[in-house]
Amino acid sequence: MTTNEYYLNDVWKKTLTKLKETHEINDNVFNLYFSVAKLRSLEDGIALVIVPHLIHLSILKDKTKLIEDCLHETVGQKTILCLRVEEEKEELQNYSNSLWDELAISRKIDPSYNFGNFVIGRSNAQAQVAASTVAENLGLIYNPLFIYGNSGLGKTHLLNAIGNRVRQLFPNKKIGFVSGLDFVEGVCKATTTKKLDDFKKSFHDLDLLLVDDIQFIAGKEKTHEVFFSVFNDLVNNYKQVCLTADRVPSDIHGLEDRIISRFNQGLNVNIEAPEYETSINILKMKISNNIETNLVDDEVLNYIATNFSTDVRSLEGAVNRLLFYSINFSDEDRITLKTAMEAFKGQVKETKNELTINVIRKCVCDYYGLTKQQIISATRTKNIATARHIAMYLCRKLIDAPYKDIGNEFGKRDHSTVISACDRVEKLLKSDSLYVKVINEIEGRIK
Ligand code: ADP
Ligand code: MG
Repeated sequence: MTTNEYYLNDVWKKTLTKLKETHEINDNVFNLYFSVAKLRSLEDGIALVIVPHLIHLSILKDKTKLIEDCLHETVGQKTILCLRVEEEKEELQNYSNSLWDELAISRKIDPSYNFGNFVIGRSNAQAQVAASTVAENLGLIYNPLFIYGNSGLGKTHLLNAIGNRVRQLFPNKKIGFVSGLDFVEGVCKATTTKKLDDFKKSFHDLDLLLVDDIQFIAGKEKTHEVFFSVFNDLVNNYKQVCLTADRVPSDIHGLEDRIISRFNQGLNVNIEAPEYETSINILKMKISNNIETNLVDDEVLNYIATNFSTDVRSLEGAVNRLLFYSINFSDEDRITLKTAMEAFKGQVKETKNELTINVIRKCVCDYYGLTKQQIISATRTKNIATARHIAMYLCRKLIDAPYKDIGNEFGKRDHSTVISACDRVEKLLKSDSLYVKVINEIEGRIK
């Protein structure tokens, strides 16, 4: 028995004892129906309980609230009960068939990428919420789900998390997981071996198709045709499709309009680079997988978050480097800023952000809790407009950026709009001391 199985058994045993102690269930009913149920998994506050037959399911279902309360007491965390009838095995297998094996296109869902270890922040909250909603309501809303963003920001992680959650909630659903690149190669090989029709049909039985990095099908005419047919077949039959790409569909050059339009039909969500607070939380989580986080000084977290937060992969690399260095080359009991600076000697310069319009815009966004989309949008909501004006002003003041460039980076605005934003800020700086304080604070953060 694995440690996890021991833990689940133990939790379930304690929960059953508590249930019995409530005296709300007749002893016979308890012995016949409750004691044969098993806790299969407990993740992200969801307890999956397996029962042998439908009759058990309906009896336990009547006591959902009571079971949830007892689980809550046992694990010290609010828990949602999910009941399932025991299925025949084979359920945890990824969907595959002989043709997929022959073409080597099937990817394995990685159990270590789940919602439980995905740190949520402003930069990725929309994608995380959309992904978990889709997993829980397969094919019913947001179809397709299209997650886009730069490399290393968690797209593949979320795609796997969807797969894992669906496995947990609906063990009988067939999940196919492929990459855009493998799909292109699959079409190519299937064409040469005259198995293209079989290839198309092989997707038909899926309940969920996960496609990572769909941008790789761009510019490949034959692949477009095949993908379009596979995609329509699934979505028209309420089968879920989730896709990732490095940019929004309309920006993927070489993608046919009809495909772009189908992708836009569901929900597109963006993942952005982690803002400061999220970077700190990610760092804490990654460090806690290895050592006690309180052994690392806050200044160290701040130093890494400031220098490596272009993407999460860089943050992970920095944690690895920090731990490697401090374990092997440092005599200190704690990880201090001095150790961190030694660990990253020669590296930080390369990754350190040079002051650019993007960097200034991001700092202002972080300060006001806005996304890039909001600050460059046409909206004139007061706090967004104020943030936009301040960011434009600081781009002039700190790096002397040309008005035209600033306008371009703020939603393709005209240079005269930038000039009047800067004038406005300068006027306010003369009359409003609170405004001066805010700008000084933002400038301090930027520097
Ligand atoms: P992408 O597919 O966008 O290039 P990945 O999903 O491969 O990025 O993420 C890169 C690494 O960063 C992975 O190890 C992933 O687990 C980790 N990661 C990304 N976002 C988060 C997050 N919000 N919380 C925890 N780990 C994350
Ligand atoms: Mg990826």
